[in-house]
Amino acid sequence: MVGLEDILAARDRIAAQVAVTPVVASPSLSALAGAEVVLKCEYRQQTGAFKLRGATNAVARLGTVAGVTTASTGNHGRALAHAARDKGLRAVICVSRLVPENKLAAIRNLGAEARVIGASQDEAYREAQRLQAEEGFVLIPPFDHPDVIAGQGTLGLEILDQVPQAGAIAVPLSGGGLLAGVAAAAKARRPDIRIIGISMERGAAMAASLKAGAPVEVEELPTLADSLGGGIGLGNRLTFPMVQGLMDELILLTEDEIAAGLRQLAREGHVVEGAAAVGAGAILAGKLRAERPLVLILSGGNIDPAAHAALMRAA
Ligand SMILES: *Cc1c(COP(=O)(O)O)cnc(C)c1O
Repeated sequence: MVGLEDILAARDRIAAQVAVTPVVASPSLSALAGAEVVLKCEYRQQTGAFKLRGATNAVARLGTVAGVTTASTGNHGRALAHAARDKGLRAVICVSRLVPENKLAAIRNLGAEARVIGASQDEAYREAQRLQAEEGFVLIPPFDHPDVIAGQGTLGLEILDQVPQAGAIAVPLSGGGLLAGVAAAAKARRPDIRIIGISMERGAAMAASLKAGAPVEVEELPTLADSLGGGIGLGNRLTFPMVQGLMDELILLTEDEIAAGLRQLAREGHVVEGAAAVGAGAILAGKLRAERPLVLILSGGNIDPAAHAALMRAA
């Protein structure tokens, strides 16, 4: 498991490469929740999401290697490309043929190689494994890795520094690296703090796994919270037990509820992706009550501007 010591060490290690993101009060959500709601604006992190913390910490711990690789095309791939460039390391992000050109361009703009291979995410992942086995690359997974979890945990330390009176933190939940890290940091400092995980109803692998008592696979379905999709890995070693042990409550949202959260945040000037809007969506849906100051992690802002505009018009 990952503990406070690991997270404190990660904070020192990544301080120069990672921004301290602002917190702001949300007047509209505070009124709805009946208690102070504070937004942790992590979508303003470099690369647009918290994933830079974990990737930077993992890359900083490497010795001499041929390079780093992963198969994520989303925020983790982007973060890893950025962290590798900072350290002068080669990064090869393996992607399937289904990945759109604009995502490839974003990876290449960070100086990484986007290697297009196979027809599915699984095939792309096998190429990343091959690079690790045969070419001396290190595969950095998006969540189930101690250095990645410790890096994400620095967000928990930062929240308590900025909002020391926080009573609860609402965390968007997918593979659980963010929740495991934030919960480990926050509960080590403030054992009474409540950690609330929020996922979409459609295809939430962690929720299904917790219910089953062991990691299970679920069908991946399209969702507005695209960064929350994907499995947790049947061989999950760290994030499943950590989430199981540290999370106090789990909330699941419909697509309409996520869209409503996204619109409400936009009215206060926060243009975020669906995954980052689940806390606001849960308050609007009456599923999340705040009795003490509640911190919502706005985890990322990488949404296609046209898609965001279409959601605003649909309101
Ligand atoms: C990856 C991601 C999440 C979920 O993080 P996990 O560590 O997989 O639970 C939430 N929001 C955004 C924007 C992400 O990129």
